[in-house]
Amino acid sequence: VIFGKTCYVFRQMRYAIIADIHSNLEAFTAVLKDIGKQARVEEIWCLGDVVGYGPDPHACIELLKQCNHVCVAGNHDWGAIGKIDIARFNPDAQTACRWTERQLNPVDTDFLQRLPKVEAREAFTLVHGSPREPIWEYTLSSSIAGQNFPFFTSKYCFVGHTHVPMVFKQEDDGHCSSGQLSMNVGLALGKNRLIINPGGVGQPRDGDPRASYAIYDSEANLVKLYRIPYDFKATQDKMMRAGL
Ligand code: ZN
Repeated sequence: VIFGKTCYVFRQMRYAIIADIHSNLEAFTAVLKDIGKQARVEEIWCLGDVVGYGPDPHACIELLKQCNHVCVAGNHDWGAIGKIDIARFNPDAQTACRWTERQLNPVDTDFLQRLPKVEAREAFTLVHGSPREPIWEYTLSSSIAGQNFPFFTSKYCFVGHTHVPMVFKQEDDGHCSSGQLSMNVGLALGKNRLIINPGGVGQPRDGDPRASYAIYDSEANLVKLYRIPYDFKATQDKMMRAGL
C-alpha cells in the first residue's frame, strides 16, 4: 500500500523442469547457470535419475539439495541404493549402478531413499517414467501416453526417463497425439490434457548433445524448451578414468 492506494504486484511464477541429470556435473552446472539467468524461477522440479551412468553422483546430489527443489525417484536413483532390482537394467547401467553405490555417503543414500514416486505442483503431476508405472515405464509413444491419462488427475503431467523432449496431447475425441517440444516455439497450455517430457540434462538421447530442460511460466501458461552446451569432453574423460 503506497499513500493509501493499493499497489498490486503481479507475480509471474516460473519453474524449471529438469530430468535425468545422471551424475553429469558439467551438464547440471551449465543448466543451473542458465536457470540462474532466467528471471524469477521459483522452484526446480526434478523428474528423477539424479544419479546413474555419470561420474559425479555425490556432487550432483549436493548441488540439487542446494536448490529450492522438489524431486521424484527414478529407476537409477533407487537402483543405486538397492531399493529396486537392477536385473532389468542393461549391462552398462548395472555396472554404473554398482559403481555409484560405492560413491554415495549415508546422507546421499538417505536422500535417494526418501524420494517419492509422485509429486504434485500447480496443475502438474511429476513422475519419472509414467503416471501408471512411475519408476519403470517409458512414455515413448502416443499409444503408451494415451493409456496413461487415466492414471493422473491433474490437467498436465511431466515425465522424464526417455531423455527425449516430447509432448503428448489428449485430443477432444480422446485419442492421443504426439509432437516435438521445440526450442523456438513455446508450448501453449490450453484446455487439452498433456504429458510433457523436458528431455535429459545429463544424457540426451535425441541426437543433440546439448543438455535439455524446460521452463514453465504460469502467467503466460507456456512451457519452453532450452538446450545448453557444456563441456561433455570433461565428463567423458572422468567416465573413462572411472571405468564407466
Ligand atoms: Zn534416465
